[in-house]
Amino acid sequence: MKIKDILARDKVTLSFEVFPPKKGMPFDPIVAAVDRLCQSRPDFMSVTYGAGGGTGHNTVKIASHVQNDLGVTALAHLSCVSSTKEQVVSAIDEIKAAGIENILALRGDIPKDGGYPVGEYYNYASELVTEIKKHGDFCIGAACYPEGHIECAHKEDDIANLKIKVDSGVDFLTTQMFFDNNVLYNFLYRIRERGITVPVIAGIMPITNPKQISRTTELSGTYVPTRFKAIVDKFGSNPEAMKQAGIAYATEQIIDLVANGVKGIHIYTMNKPDVAESIRRNLSHIIGDEQ
Ligand code: FAD
Repeated sequence: MKIKDILARDKVTLSFEVFPPKKGMPFDPIVAAVDRLCQSRPDFMSVTYGAGGGTGHNTVKIASHVQNDLGVTALAHLSCVSSTKEQVVSAIDEIKAAGIENILALRGDIPKDGGYPVGEYYNYASELVTEIKKHGDFCIGAACYPEGHIECAHKEDDIANLKIKVDSGVDFLTTQMFFDNNVLYNFLYRIRERGITVPVIAGIMPITNPKQISRTTELSGTYVPTRFKAIVDKFGSNPEAMKQAGIAYATEQIIDLVANGVKGIHIYTMNKPDVAESIRRNLSHIIGDEQ
């Protein structure tokens, strides 16, 4: 099923993100986590893609398992900046052959270790969107950044670039994580004003250990509200308390989003089914049990 049709339903959607095994790593623990996550019946499950195409086959393998064995709609991520055209086209063909209709088109981060054809074939995700459209009738998603992409000095320029990307054929957007919902509300207002009207799915990252927050905010420059910093300061050294507080914080964020009319919620599960299940349970009457 195409995700744009799922999003068009008159209900709140809940989706999960998982990452596939890195090269040479075992599949079984990831498959076990994915199987458990699918028992919560998310509306769809997205599977990330490693830069340079190294784990691209693993992305399709996991996405195919999600869709064809577990009966949950899959969204395969695909990045382009460090791949050749041949690699990208072959990945699209592989996704199509697995019966997957949904692709999240990404530029990808610029690899620091070199050795890839960076920017030789594709510079921006919008170019990948154009490429994907040549190769099949896919539903195409893309990333967006409520606080602006870290490489873009001005938020307004980033929104102008986002408009180019959406106009190249994007059906929906998923946001980078954010910890203050006002950041999203402000972003939605500004993109709607600029004529970006596709559905926007809110990406929520439950923070369950203090290392995760420094790592994720360093990479993305995400603003951490004082309220959340206090939680990490107080409970960071107590893993069970931190996990409980992180789940509660993510739950509260989602409740506020739903109360303010946001219809798409995406959880960056970090392959932790227990965390996703707890949040799902906390929302049972808010978004309903049946997907
Ligand atoms: P783009 O949309 O191409 O934007 C990149 C930068 O270029 C921005 O600063 C933008 O303003 C600028 N830009 C865009 N178009 C133009 C233009 N025409 N002219 C001038 N400047 C322009 N990474 C992975 O490797 N694998 C994943 O699976 C993955 N999944 C992700 C999922 C989500 C929901 C998100 C939010 C991010 C994900 N990422 C993933 C990270 C992503 O690849 C990086 O954030 C990357 O740095 C930017 O990718 P993009 O597709 O947003 O790039």
